[in-house]
Amino acid sequence: MSLGVLDLFSIGIGPSSSHTVGPMRAAVRFVDELAEAGQLDRVDAVRVGLFGSLGATGIGHGSDSAVLAGLSGKQPETLDPDSVGPLVAEIREKGSLRLGGRKDVPFDMASDLTLHLRESLPGHPNGMRISAEADGELIERDYYSVGGGFVVTDDELAAEKDAAEAIDAAAGGSREQRRDGDVIDFATADELLEQCRTHGLSIAELMAVNERARQSDETLRARLLEIWSVMRECVHNGCTRSETILPGGLKVRRRAPELKAKLEAADYWASGSLDALEWVNLYALAVNEENASGGRIVTAPTNGAAGIIPAVLHYMDRFVTGGGGADSEAAEASPGDDAVVTFLLTAGAIGILFKRNASISGAEVGCQGEVGSACAMAAAGLCAVLGGTPEQVENAAEIGLEHNLGLTCDPVGGLVQVPCIERNAIASVKAINAARLAMHGDGSHRVSLDQAIETMRQTGADMKSKYKETSRGGLAVNVVEC
Ligand code: SF4
Repeated sequence: MSLGVLDLFSIGIGPSSSHTVGPMRAAVRFVDELAEAGQLDRVDAVRVGLFGSLGATGIGHGSDSAVLAGLSGKQPETLDPDSVGPLVAEIREKGSLRLGGRKDVPFDMASDLTLHLRESLPGHPNGMRISAEADGELIERDYYSVGGGFVVTDDELAAEKDAAEAIDAAAGGSREQRRDGDVIDFATADELLEQCRTHGLSIAELMAVNERARQSDETLRARLLEIWSVMRECVHNGCTRSETILPGGLKVRRRAPELKAKLEAADYWASGSLDALEWVNLYALAVNEENASGGRIVTAPTNGAAGIIPAVLHYMDRFVTGGGGADSEAAEASPGDDAVVTFLLTAGAIGILFKRNASISGAEVGCQGEVGSACAMAAAGLCAVLGGTPEQVENAAEIGLEHNLGLTCDPVGGLVQVPCIERNAIASVKAINAARLAMHGDGSHRVSLDQAIETMRQTGADMKSKYKETSRGGLAVNVVEC
């Protein structure tokens, strides 16, 4: 298993994992490679080209600023989101950037950073070409941002395909079934269920075994709870912002602060049993509004769909395990910490299946890969916490995906706002319903998760590029930007 649960949940900034976090990581990687080769201090020019979907919607997604921050040595995990604007303004004003935080290099925003609106690199729709001149020598690298903040080179992309084909060739019973310190391998949902049965483990327990190859149980738990803590902080921030309009020019209103005040008002008109649904909407709006404004975000598994898992976790915490929701007073020691760990490990296993067998990139398969994956992961996580068997968890994930199949990516103005913010709220509710439907069954069902994932992959391959994060189709062309 090359992917771990923490690859699916990383801390970064908004608004996009593939268009913001990925380009920043690519730039950091380029600078690191220069430094390792002893070339950084000899660089006298640097240039960046953004291709395909990155070129088409890079401005709206902050790709340009992200690359500049990465070239300046900033990491998405630790960067103060509020520092990006001033950093870019300084680069523009001075006409230079400090490469890797240590070498001043001339940089003209107009000529050294190019968004190729109609041109793509061969490997993937999200391509970047970064080059530097060091004492007259040209150093050039192509990177691809393949979704969820993952960045690969041409060689790595080819190696991933080879590895996937090798796994496919090995599928059908010859996979080793190891445990206790070793990785318990699975490539499909069917294999995951088989491994759970063979070893007598839940999906979360199996993931915990696999994570021991990377870190101790204590470290894993601490890191998962840190992820949860950032999610709670994000909801808190989204609910307490004083700015009323999101950046970008669409004039989209922040709704979370007002909705929270309404839900907490004594005379709130809520109609009984759907109260929980309103809170779920609030949590998702809060996260995605933070994402849209470039705030600190947990990529889960992408930024565009980053509201769904936190919203369902908050629902679980508030209405299932009784941890107190997003209230900051309750943030110290939630009684639902075990449930949070179970939820995230289970959701991570499902996310690995998507990443392995289809895609979590809107530029590759449309929004079904982002919101569909996150909905399935959240449904699985909640189902596990509700006491679902591995078969019920797989059923929940399948329901969560099946009803997002075909979903296109058509963000208005190239911004991760419309339809993205509301879409997260709707998918969060869908995930909860999927988990509850699965809990009413015994885990047997007609469409398997593997079949649904393969359907997503095929549908994505057939989808026209105008519906894959280029803002050239769908709502993006039918809604007037004003
Ligand atoms: S429409 Fe979906 S895939 Fe596209 S940017 Fe919005 S959330 Fe991401």
